[in-house]
Amino acid sequence: MIGDIVPLLTNAKRVVISTHTRPDGDAIGSQLAIGAFLEQRGTEVWMINSDPVPYNLEWMQGVDRIRVYDHSLDLVEAIASADVVIVVDTNAASRLGTPGNQLKAANGKKVLIDHHTDPEDWFDFSHRREDASSTGELLYELMAGWDLSGITPAVAEPLYVAIMTDTGSFRYSNVTPVLHRMTADLIERGELDAAHIHGQVYDRKSMEGLRLMSAVLGTMQLHFDGLVGTMVVTRQFLADSGASVEETDGFVNLLLSVEGVQVALMFTETAKGTKISFRSKGNWHVHKWAQSLGGGGHRNASGAFQHSSLDETVQKAVNTASRFLDLPESGPGPELSEDDVEYLAMLGEKN
Ligand code: 5GP
Ligand code: MN
Repeated sequence: MIGDIVPLLTNAKRVVISTHTRPDGDAIGSQLAIGAFLEQRGTEVWMINSDPVPYNLEWMQGVDRIRVYDHSLDLVEAIASADVVIVVDTNAASRLGTPGNQLKAANGKKVLIDHHTDPEDWFDFSHRREDASSTGELLYELMAGWDLSGITPAVAEPLYVAIMTDTGSFRYSNVTPVLHRMTADLIERGELDAAHIHGQVYDRKSMEGLRLMSAVLGTMQLHFDGLVGTMVVTRQFLADSGASVEETDGFVNLLLSVEGVQVALMFTETAKGTKISFRSKGNWHVHKWAQSLGGGGHRNASGAFQHSSLDETVQKAVNTASRFLDLPESGPGPELSEDDVEYLAMLGEKN
Protein backbone atom coordinates (compact mmCIF):
# COMPACT_ATOMS: atom_id res chain seq x y z
CA MET A 1 0.00 0.00 0.00
CA ILE A 2 1.17 3.51 -0.85
CA GLY A 3 0.19 4.57 2.68
CA ASP A 4 2.82 2.22 4.15
CA ILE A 5 5.50 2.83 1.57
CA VAL A 6 5.67 6.63 1.84
CA PRO A 7 6.58 6.76 5.58
CA LEU A 8 9.00 3.87 5.14
CA LEU A 9 10.85 5.64 2.32
CA THR A 10 10.63 9.01 4.06
CA ASN A 11 12.61 7.60 6.98
CA ALA A 12 15.06 5.48 4.99
CA LYS A 13 18.62 6.77 4.84
CA ARG A 14 20.01 4.23 2.38
CA VAL A 15 17.96 2.60 -0.37
CA VAL A 16 18.92 -0.03 -2.94
CA ILE A 17 16.86 -0.22 -6.15
CA SER A 18 17.03 -3.19 -8.49
CA THR A 19 15.22 -4.58 -11.51
CA HIS A 20 15.10 -7.58 -13.81
CA THR A 21 17.70 -9.17 -16.06
CA ARG A 22 17.83 -7.89 -19.65
CA PRO A 23 16.19 -4.68 -18.46
CA ASP A 24 13.77 -2.83 -20.74
CA GLY A 25 12.52 0.75 -20.79
CA ASP A 26 10.03 0.22 -17.99
CA ALA A 27 12.69 -1.41 -15.81
CA ILE A 28 15.41 1.21 -16.32
CA GLY A 29 12.98 4.14 -16.50
CA SER A 30 11.29 3.13 -13.27
CA GLN A 31 14.58 2.56 -11.51
CA LEU A 32 16.01 5.93 -12.56
CA ALA A 33 12.78 7.75 -11.73
CA ILE A 34 12.40 6.49 -8.16
CA GLY A 35 16.18 6.83 -7.73
CA ALA A 36 16.17 10.51 -8.73
CA PHE A 37 13.00 11.19 -6.72
CA LEU A 38 14.56 9.79 -3.51
CA GLU A 39 17.94 11.36 -4.12
CA GLN A 40 16.34 14.80 -4.40
CA ARG A 41 14.93 14.20 -0.94
CA GLY A 42 18.43 13.48 0.41
CA THR A 43 18.26 9.68 0.49
CA GLU A 44 21.42 7.71 -0.33
CA VAL A 45 20.51 5.71 -3.42
CA TRP A 46 22.20 2.65 -4.92
CA MET A 47 20.98 1.20 -8.22
CA ILE A 48 22.20 -2.36 -8.67
CA ASN A 49 21.27 -4.68 -11.55
CA SER A 50 22.33 -8.03 -12.88
CA ASP A 51 22.65 -6.81 -16.49
CA PRO A 52 23.87 -3.63 -18.17
CA VAL A 53 21.60 -0.92 -19.57
CA PRO A 54 20.62 -1.71 -23.20
CA TYR A 55 22.12 0.50 -25.89
CA ASN A 56 18.85 2.29 -26.72
CA LEU A 57 18.57 3.59 -23.16
CA GLU A 58 22.20 4.56 -22.64
CA TRP A 59 21.38 8.21 -23.36
CA MET A 60 19.20 8.54 -20.27
CA GLN A 61 20.27 10.84 -17.47
CA GLY A 62 21.62 8.89 -14.50
CA VAL A 63 22.36 5.57 -16.26
CA ASP A 64 26.01 5.89 -15.28
CA ARG A 65 24.85 5.49 -11.69
CA ILE A 66 23.43 2.02 -12.38
CA ARG A 67 25.95 -0.60 -11.29
CA VAL A 68 26.14 -4.13 -12.64
CA TYR A 69 26.39 -6.51 -9.69
CA ASP A 70 29.88 -8.02 -9.62
CA HIS A 71 30.08 -9.13 -5.97
CA SER A 72 32.35 -6.17 -5.23
CA LEU A 73 32.55 -5.19 -1.59
CA ASP A 74 30.85 -1.80 -1.85
CA LEU A 75 27.80 -3.36 -3.56
CA VAL A 76 27.61 -6.27 -1.11
CA GLU A 77 27.78 -3.80 1.77
CA ALA A 78 25.23 -1.45 0.23
CA ILE A 79 22.70 -4.26 -0.03
CA ALA A 80 23.47 -5.60 3.44
CA SER A 81 23.16 -2.20 5.10
CA ALA A 82 20.24 -0.71 3.13
CA ASP A 83 17.20 0.35 5.12
CA VAL A 84 15.00 -0.46 2.16
CA VAL A 85 15.39 -2.58 -0.96
CA ILE A 86 13.03 -1.55 -3.77
CA VAL A 87 12.35 -4.02 -6.58
CA VAL A 88 10.76 -2.57 -9.71
CA ASP A 89 9.18 -4.27 -12.73
CA THR A 90 9.60 -7.87 -11.57
CA ASN A 91 8.44 -9.82 -8.55
CA ALA A 92 10.71 -12.85 -8.38
CA ALA A 93 14.24 -13.25 -6.97
CA SER A 94 15.33 -15.36 -9.93
CA ARG A 95 14.36 -12.58 -12.37
CA LEU A 96 16.72 -10.22 -10.51
CA GLY A 97 19.64 -12.33 -11.72
CA THR A 98 22.96 -12.41 -9.86
CA PRO A 99 22.09 -10.13 -6.88
CA GLY A 100 18.64 -11.77 -6.51
CA ASN A 101 19.31 -13.98 -3.52
CA GLN A 102 21.23 -11.29 -1.69
CA LEU A 103 18.48 -8.72 -2.25
CA LYS A 104 15.89 -11.21 -1.02
CA ALA A 105 17.95 -12.01 2.10
CA ALA A 106 18.78 -8.34 2.89
CA ASN A 107 17.96 -7.05 6.37
CA GLY A 108 16.17 -3.94 5.13
CA LYS A 109 12.47 -3.83 4.33
CA LYS A 110 11.62 -5.07 0.87
CA VAL A 111 9.28 -2.99 -1.27
CA LEU A 112 7.77 -4.21 -4.54
CA ILE A 113 6.52 -1.87 -7.29
CA ASP A 114 5.33 -4.06 -10.14
CA HIS A 115 2.62 -5.11 -12.58
CA HIS A 116 3.42 -8.79 -13.18
CA THR A 117 1.31 -11.77 -12.10
CA ASP A 118 2.05 -14.11 -9.18
CA PRO A 119 4.36 -12.08 -6.91
CA GLU A 120 6.66 -13.95 -4.55
CA ASP A 121 5.93 -13.57 -0.84
CA TRP A 122 9.18 -12.08 0.50
CA PHE A 123 8.17 -8.43 0.08
CA ASP A 124 7.13 -6.46 3.18
CA PHE A 125 5.18 -3.82 1.24
CA SER A 126 3.97 -3.57 -2.30
CA HIS A 127 2.24 -1.28 -4.74
CA ARG A 128 1.20 -3.58 -7.54
CA ARG A 129 -1.60 -4.05 -10.01
CA GLU A 130 -1.62 -6.49 -12.89
CA ASP A 131 -3.74 -4.24 -15.05
CA ALA A 132 -1.35 -1.31 -14.72
CA SER A 133 0.21 -0.46 -18.07
CA SER A 134 3.68 -0.28 -16.61
CA THR A 135 5.67 -0.02 -13.43
CA GLY A 136 6.11 3.63 -14.41
CA GLU A 137 2.36 4.20 -14.03
CA LEU A 138 2.45 2.71 -10.51
CA LEU A 139 5.39 4.90 -9.57
CA TYR A 140 3.56 7.97 -10.82
CA GLU A 141 0.69 7.05 -8.49
CA LEU A 142 3.10 6.64 -5.59
CA MET A 143 4.81 9.97 -6.27
CA ALA A 144 1.57 11.86 -6.92
CA GLY A 145 0.22 10.63 -3.60
CA TRP A 146 3.40 11.68 -1.85
CA ASP A 147 4.86 14.87 -3.29
CA LEU A 148 3.94 16.07 -6.79
CA SER A 149 6.65 18.73 -6.66
CA GLY A 150 9.20 15.90 -6.58
CA ILE A 151 8.30 15.06 -10.19
CA THR A 152 11.09 17.16 -11.63
CA PRO A 153 12.44 16.74 -15.19
CA ALA A 154 14.96 14.17 -13.90
CA VAL A 155 12.01 12.10 -12.65
CA ALA A 156 9.44 12.86 -15.35
CA GLU A 157 11.62 11.84 -18.29
CA PRO A 158 12.44 8.30 -17.12
CA LEU A 159 8.82 7.81 -16.03
CA TYR A 160 7.71 8.86 -19.50
CA VAL A 161 10.15 6.35 -21.05
CA ALA A 162 8.85 3.62 -18.72
CA ILE A 163 5.25 4.21 -19.73
CA MET A 164 5.98 4.79 -23.43
CA THR A 165 7.98 1.58 -23.84
CA ASP A 166 5.55 -0.69 -21.96
CA THR A 167 2.51 0.61 -23.84
CA GLY A 168 3.96 0.24 -27.35
CA SER A 169 4.06 4.06 -27.52
CA PHE A 170 0.57 4.49 -26.04
CA ARG A 171 -1.33 2.04 -28.22
CA TYR A 172 -1.86 -1.17 -26.21
CA SER A 173 -5.12 -2.14 -24.52
CA ASN A 174 -3.68 -1.18 -21.11
CA VAL A 175 -3.76 2.52 -22.10
CA THR A 176 -6.57 4.39 -20.33
CA PRO A 177 -7.74 8.01 -20.21
CA VAL A 178 -6.25 8.18 -16.71
CA LEU A 179 -2.88 7.09 -18.06
CA HIS A 180 -3.03 9.76 -20.75
CA ARG A 181 -3.68 12.39 -18.05
CA MET A 182 -0.73 11.14 -16.04
CA THR A 183 1.43 11.26 -19.16
CA ALA A 184 0.27 14.78 -19.97
CA ASP A 185 1.24 15.81 -16.46
CA LEU A 186 4.70 14.25 -16.92
CA ILE A 187 5.20 16.11 -20.20
CA GLU A 188 4.29 19.40 -18.53
CA ARG A 189 6.25 18.94 -15.33
CA GLY A 190 9.29 17.61 -17.14
CA GLU A 191 8.96 19.99 -20.11
CA LEU A 192 9.51 16.87 -22.17
CA ASP A 193 10.06 16.71 -25.91
CA ALA A 194 8.03 13.56 -26.62
CA ALA A 195 9.10 13.21 -30.26
CA HIS A 196 12.76 13.53 -29.32
CA ILE A 197 12.47 10.91 -26.57
CA HIS A 198 10.72 8.49 -28.92
CA GLY A 199 13.46 8.97 -31.49
CA GLN A 200 16.18 8.36 -28.92
CA VAL A 201 14.65 5.04 -27.89
CA TYR A 202 13.44 3.70 -31.25
CA ASP A 203 15.17 5.44 -34.15
CA ARG A 204 18.78 4.71 -33.45
CA LYS A 205 18.89 1.22 -34.89
CA SER A 206 22.02 -0.05 -36.57
CA MET A 207 22.22 -1.43 -40.10
CA GLU A 208 23.42 -4.68 -38.49
CA GLY A 209 20.19 -4.76 -36.51
CA LEU A 210 18.11 -4.33 -39.64
CA ARG A 211 20.05 -7.08 -41.43
CA LEU A 212 19.32 -9.32 -38.49
CA MET A 213 15.66 -8.35 -38.70
CA SER A 214 15.57 -9.35 -42.33
CA ALA A 215 17.05 -12.78 -41.56
CA VAL A 216 14.64 -13.32 -38.66
CA LEU A 217 11.60 -12.25 -40.70
CA GLY A 218 12.66 -14.86 -43.25
CA THR A 219 11.84 -17.58 -40.72
CA MET A 220 8.26 -16.46 -40.12
CA GLN A 221 5.88 -19.40 -40.01
CA LEU A 222 2.14 -19.56 -39.40
CA HIS A 223 0.40 -22.33 -37.48
CA PHE A 224 -3.18 -23.20 -36.57
CA ASP A 225 -4.83 -21.53 -39.56
CA GLY A 226 -2.68 -18.45 -39.17
CA LEU A 227 -3.63 -17.72 -35.56
CA VAL A 228 -0.17 -18.43 -34.19
CA GLY A 229 3.04 -17.16 -35.76
CA THR A 230 6.60 -18.20 -34.91
CA MET A 231 10.02 -16.96 -35.88
CA VAL A 232 13.54 -17.66 -34.72
CA VAL A 233 16.81 -15.87 -34.01
CA THR A 234 19.69 -18.27 -34.49
CA ARG A 235 23.19 -17.69 -33.15
CA GLN A 236 24.32 -17.91 -36.75
CA PHE A 237 22.06 -14.96 -37.69
CA LEU A 238 23.57 -12.96 -34.85
CA ALA A 239 27.11 -13.80 -35.90
CA ASP A 240 26.45 -13.16 -39.61
CA SER A 241 24.74 -9.82 -39.07
CA GLY A 242 27.10 -8.58 -36.37
CA ALA A 243 24.08 -7.28 -34.43
CA SER A 244 23.66 -7.73 -30.69
CA VAL A 245 20.80 -9.75 -29.29
CA GLU A 246 19.34 -6.59 -27.71
CA GLU A 247 18.53 -5.44 -31.22
CA THR A 248 15.92 -8.19 -31.55
CA ASP A 249 13.74 -6.13 -29.22
CA GLY A 250 10.47 -5.45 -31.03
CA PHE A 251 10.87 -8.06 -33.79
CA VAL A 252 8.14 -10.22 -32.30
CA ASN A 253 5.69 -7.33 -32.58
CA LEU A 254 6.17 -7.30 -36.36
CA LEU A 255 4.94 -10.87 -36.47
CA LEU A 256 1.99 -9.96 -34.28
CA SER A 257 1.10 -7.20 -36.74
CA VAL A 258 0.30 -9.75 -39.45
CA GLU A 259 -3.44 -9.82 -40.14
CA GLY A 260 -5.10 -12.73 -38.39
CA VAL A 261 -2.12 -13.55 -36.18
CA GLN A 262 -3.33 -13.48 -32.57
CA VAL A 263 -0.26 -14.95 -30.89
CA ALA A 264 3.37 -14.43 -31.91
CA LEU A 265 6.35 -16.32 -30.57
CA MET A 266 9.99 -15.50 -31.12
CA PHE A 267 12.63 -18.07 -30.19
CA THR A 268 16.18 -16.88 -29.55
CA GLU A 269 18.98 -19.41 -29.53
CA THR A 270 21.61 -18.87 -26.82
CA ALA A 271 24.66 -20.81 -25.64
CA LYS A 272 22.66 -22.29 -22.75
CA GLY A 273 19.28 -22.87 -24.35
CA THR A 274 16.41 -21.04 -25.98
CA LYS A 275 14.61 -17.90 -24.90
CA ILE A 276 10.96 -17.56 -25.89
CA SER A 277 9.10 -14.26 -26.26
CA PHE A 278 5.31 -14.47 -26.31
CA ARG A 279 3.07 -11.63 -27.53
CA SER A 280 -0.67 -11.73 -28.11
CA LYS A 281 -3.72 -9.67 -28.97
CA GLY A 282 -6.87 -9.14 -26.87
CA ASN A 283 -8.19 -12.16 -25.02
CA TRP A 284 -5.55 -14.53 -26.34
CA HIS A 285 -3.68 -14.85 -23.04
CA VAL A 286 -0.20 -16.31 -23.07
CA HIS A 287 1.08 -16.05 -19.48
CA LYS A 288 -0.07 -19.53 -18.41
CA TRP A 289 1.51 -21.03 -21.50
CA ALA A 290 4.76 -19.20 -20.69
CA GLN A 291 4.51 -20.45 -17.08
CA SER A 292 4.15 -24.02 -18.29
CA LEU A 293 7.48 -23.56 -20.07
CA GLY A 294 9.20 -22.21 -16.96
CA GLY A 295 8.56 -18.49 -17.49
CA GLY A 296 5.80 -15.98 -16.89
CA GLY A 297 4.86 -12.37 -17.44
CA HIS A 298 1.66 -10.65 -18.50
CA ARG A 299 -1.45 -11.89 -20.27
CA ASN A 300 -0.38 -10.34 -23.59
CA ALA A 301 3.43 -10.33 -23.20
CA SER A 302 5.38 -13.09 -21.56
CA GLY A 303 8.70 -14.84 -21.73
CA ALA A 304 10.34 -18.12 -20.83
CA PHE A 305 13.65 -19.89 -21.07
CA GLN A 306 14.21 -23.54 -21.90
CA HIS A 307 17.48 -25.42 -21.56
CA SER A 308 16.88 -27.10 -24.89
CA SER A 309 17.92 -26.57 -28.48
CA LEU A 310 16.15 -24.12 -30.74
CA ASP A 311 14.23 -26.70 -32.77
CA GLU A 312 13.28 -28.79 -29.73
CA THR A 313 11.95 -25.68 -28.03
CA VAL A 314 9.94 -24.55 -31.08
CA GLN A 315 8.45 -28.03 -31.32
CA LYS A 316 7.61 -28.15 -27.61
CA ALA A 317 5.94 -24.74 -27.67
CA VAL A 318 3.91 -25.47 -30.81
CA ASN A 319 2.93 -28.86 -29.41
CA THR A 320 1.62 -27.37 -26.18
CA ALA A 321 -0.19 -24.41 -27.81
CA SER A 322 -3.62 -26.01 -27.88
CA ARG A 323 -3.53 -26.63 -24.13
CA PHE A 324 -3.46 -22.89 -23.49
CA LEU A 325 -5.14 -21.35 -26.51
CA ASP A 326 -8.58 -21.90 -27.99
CA LEU A 327 -7.35 -23.18 -31.35
CA PRO A 328 -9.28 -24.59 -34.31
CA GLU A 329 -9.28 -28.35 -34.68
CA SER A 330 -8.06 -27.95 -38.24
CA GLY A 331 -4.67 -26.70 -37.03
CA PRO A 332 -1.67 -28.90 -36.45
CA GLY A 333 -3.00 -29.80 -33.00
CA PRO A 334 -0.63 -31.77 -30.82
CA GLU A 335 1.04 -33.26 -33.89
CA LEU A 336 3.21 -31.10 -36.12
CA SER A 337 2.02 -30.51 -39.67
CA GLU A 338 4.21 -31.40 -42.63
CA ASP A 339 4.99 -27.70 -43.04
CA ASP A 340 6.20 -27.52 -39.46
CA VAL A 341 8.38 -30.57 -39.83
CA GLU A 342 9.92 -29.07 -42.97
CA TYR A 343 10.44 -25.79 -41.19
CA LEU A 344 12.20 -27.44 -38.27
CA ALA A 345 14.37 -29.44 -40.63
CA MET A 346 15.32 -26.21 -42.39
CA LEU A 347 16.32 -24.68 -39.05
CA GLY A 348 18.41 -27.74 -38.27
CA GLU A 349 20.25 -27.28 -41.56
CA LYS A 350 20.88 -23.61 -40.90
CA ASN A 351 22.36 -24.24 -37.45
P1 5GP B 1 10.39 -10.37 -23.42
O1 5GP B 1 9.77 -11.25 -24.44
O2 5GP B 1 10.34 -8.94 -23.79
O3 5GP B 1 11.73 -10.85 -22.97
O4 5GP B 1 9.48 -10.55 -22.13
C1 5GP B 1 8.16 -10.14 -22.10
C2 5GP B 1 7.70 -10.17 -20.66
O5 5GP B 1 7.70 -11.52 -20.21
C3 5GP B 1 8.63 -9.43 -19.72
O6 5GP B 1 8.18 -8.14 -19.52
C4 5GP B 1 8.55 -10.23 -18.47
O7 5GP B 1 7.42 -9.80 -17.77
C5 5GP B 1 8.22 -11.62 -18.91
N1 5GP B 1 9.36 -12.54 -18.96
C6 5GP B 1 10.31 -12.60 -19.92
N2 5GP B 1 11.17 -13.62 -19.69
C7 5GP B 1 10.75 -14.22 -18.55
C8 5GP B 1 11.21 -15.34 -17.78
O8 5GP B 1 12.20 -16.00 -18.10
N3 5GP B 1 10.51 -15.63 -16.65
C9 5GP B 1 9.40 -14.93 -16.28
N4 5GP B 1 8.76 -15.28 -15.16
N5 5GP B 1 8.94 -13.88 -16.98
C10 5GP B 1 9.59 -13.53 -18.09
MN1 MN C 1 6.98 -3.49 -17.14
